[in-house]
Amino acid sequence: MDLGLKGKRALVCASSKGLGLGCARALAGEGVDLVMNARGAEALEASAQAIRDEFGVKVVAVAADITTEEGREKVLKEAEGVDILVNNAGGPPPGMWTDWDRDDFIKALDANMLAPIALIKALVPAMIDRGWGRVVNITSQSVKAPIPVLGLSNSARAGLTGYVAGTSRQVAGKGVTINNLLPGIHATDRAVSLDQGVSKAQGISMDEAKAQRCAGIPAGRYGTAEEFGAACAFLCSQHAGFIVGQNLLLDGGGVNSTM
Ligand code: NAP
Repeated sequence: MDLGLKGKRALVCASSKGLGLGCARALAGEGVDLVMNARGAEALEASAQAIRDEFGVKVVAVAADITTEEGREKVLKEAEGVDILVNNAGGPPPGMWTDWDRDDFIKALDANMLAPIALIKALVPAMIDRGWGRVVNITSQSVKAPIPVLGLSNSARAGLTGYVAGTSRQVAGKGVTINNLLPGIHATDRAVSLDQGVSKAQGISMDEAKAQRCAGIPAGRYGTAEEFGAACAFLCSQHAGFIVGQNLLLDGGGVNSTM
């Protein structure tokens, strides 16, 4: 299927690795020029160059912390006028509900709620002027089913989800869609670090920790960044203009609910 994206430009935040990189690669495969971002310049430039080599699209790499105002300013200098925005950043650390104070919540809100909202506010007006745009926010399955040790993530991502629910309906009539992609467990560095936490806490091997987690996923495996990227590219496509304010769960059936 031709997604109708050739020649478009996208900003994909936090995309040197993992799910963000999966989205960047899938969009590049459709002929989309990219602005890619991550904090670590070396891994970012390596991923950007690999995409230039493989797909022949233009890629500008901006090393910056997307959760800070200065970082976003740097990125936005290169990303002005993009047609597609993929919001992403690292997730907050795990802990117990008694662990977190106000500063921890502010940090989580900055990273996983206020940063994507700031980028939406910066980039969507020009999409509206051109009558076409796509925003995809990478959130988490924790929006549908809480992960108790990730209370900071549960809270911040629920806030973004509420914002998107209303805002997406305010901009849909202007040709701009905003949707969320909700990853369940995917085979990225983040999953490795979650498995390391379980392995340490329970005194079991990494393989055992992974097998334990897979047992709770009907598909019996972790998702891949490629599958995730393909779903993102579809949500950005010309065919997805009627999908507005939705929360698409990619979790191999892990969240046990009817809807
Ligand atoms: P990952 O493999 O650890 O990759 C994270 C990427 O984001 C890296 O490129 C990293 O590069 C970049 N990054 C992190 N913090 C950043 C920041 N402040 N500014 C700019 N770039 C930043 O993580 P992932 O698995 O792809 O996860 C992506 C998001 O999905 C996270 O929010 C995670 O919590 C959420 N999620 C993941 C899963 C999963 O199973 N993988 C499940 C549910 C939710 P630098 O470190 O160099 O900045």
